[in-house]
Amino acid sequence: MRYISTRGQAPVLGFKAATLAGLASDGGLYVPEAWPRLSEAAIADLAGRSYAETAAIVLAPFIGDALDPATLRELCETAYGRFAHPAVTPLVQLDGQHWLLELFHGPTLAFKDVALQLLGLLFERFLAGGDRHLTIVGATSGDTGSAAIEAVANRAHIDIFMLYPDGRVSDVQRRQMTTVDAPNAHSIAIDGDFDTAQALVKALFADRAFADRVGLAAVNSINWARLAAQVVYYFYAAVRLGAPGRPVAFSVPTGNFGDVFAGYVAACMGLPVARLIVATNVNDILHRALARGDYSAGTVAPTATPSMDIQVSSNFERLLFDLHGRDAGTLAGVMRGFEATRAMAIPEPVRARAGLFSSARIDHAAMVEAMRWAHGAGTILDPHSAIGLAAARAAGLPREVPLVTLATAHPAKFPEAVTSAIGTAAPLPARLGALMEGREHVTHLPATLDVIREFVGTRTRVAA
Ligand SMILES: *Cc1c(COP(=O)(O)O)cnc(C)c1O
Repeated sequence: MRYISTRGQAPVLGFKAATLAGLASDGGLYVPEAWPRLSEAAIADLAGRSYAETAAIVLAPFIGDALDPATLRELCETAYGRFAHPAVTPLVQLDGQHWLLELFHGPTLAFKDVALQLLGLLFERFLAGGDRHLTIVGATSGDTGSAAIEAVANRAHIDIFMLYPDGRVSDVQRRQMTTVDAPNAHSIAIDGDFDTAQALVKALFADRAFADRVGLAAVNSINWARLAAQVVYYFYAAVRLGAPGRPVAFSVPTGNFGDVFAGYVAACMGLPVARLIVATNVNDILHRALARGDYSAGTVAPTATPSMDIQVSSNFERLLFDLHGRDAGTLAGVMRGFEATRAMAIPEPVRARAGLFSSARIDHAAMVEAMRWAHGAGTILDPHSAIGLAAARAAGLPREVPLVTLATAHPAKFPEAVTSAIGTAAPLPARLGALMEGREHVTHLPATLDVIREFVGTRTRVAA
């Protein structure tokens, strides 16, 4: 499989190079040259297969000859063997129509583990035996940081530096990063907010000489391999609910548009998807874009669902590429316009091609209502998953269409929001019991580019 940039000016790469590259050099995002298809028979044949087997089959066309089938299967077995549930991503029934797909049984209790556990192994495999070294630098508002550190801690050829806003992530989220004791993992509390942390990371990537010297790499959801790994659970869930014979709908709590884009990819590959519901909180740029063609960024309002508190959704560019007929020249112009003005009006004929999607903006009261309803149905939801469920229940789909809400985080990660909504908290799973006692390893730094660059440049194990 060959990968092309949505903006058409970056080199065409294979899977391995696209995985290691992250962002394309023209500022675009890598996408497969064409969507691979699974036949109806091939989809039917997924029924009853384990998660790891399903992953190896669904991922094979994306990986092409970058890995042999036995190695791919082994990496999937290793990555998903670290999940605490035998089904890896179990389905839980709520009523006659609604299901939850629990994506939070990985080591850090958020769905990001599903992709990052595999990505860590892919990095290691692709770097093994060579002299290339990766220095991963990222900014996190909570879940990505711990999932990424967990995925690459103690791996050869990789160092990781995670910047988080001091005092603005929850105790559980912070401890999940800082209690990891590995020579290649660095948690950095910066004196500033998340946007400041992200701006520092962008500035490091913009320093090409520095980026090349340390082998700077990204692990956010612009990385194609992450999205590919997320396509798997759409197939896994849908075949359990009757696909390919019966179409299935999904509701996805959305921030950077990575998770729901993976559902779109599954549909492009032939999975019968009845609907993809994009559920946003009050930071509703994606809802406005899909409902009215108004893709314009405002300022972020902090909510109880921090992982969805975004203004600009990087992965939306991948959908826009398809909606513009995969015309990279046109899209490059459109994106330049957006970057200059932070606003874009999506023309009606273009928006009309996104008919598989619907969207909803869920405010705090509707989120709380969904948490209470689910509690009545026997389940404690985290606030992000509750946004998804609220959108699912409001979607008005026919009763005979099974509707799966992606449950993106374990409720124990957000004890305050859960307790204030339903009056009781979800206990931390036993395997995380030691989390609140472990020693923390963290460096406090000012939000100054020179200081961060000096720290990363001297701590990374790449030979100077
Ligand atoms: C990251 C995250 C999301 C948003 O996912 P995107 O791929 O950015 O749309 C939703 N819920 C939780 C708990 C997350 O960690």
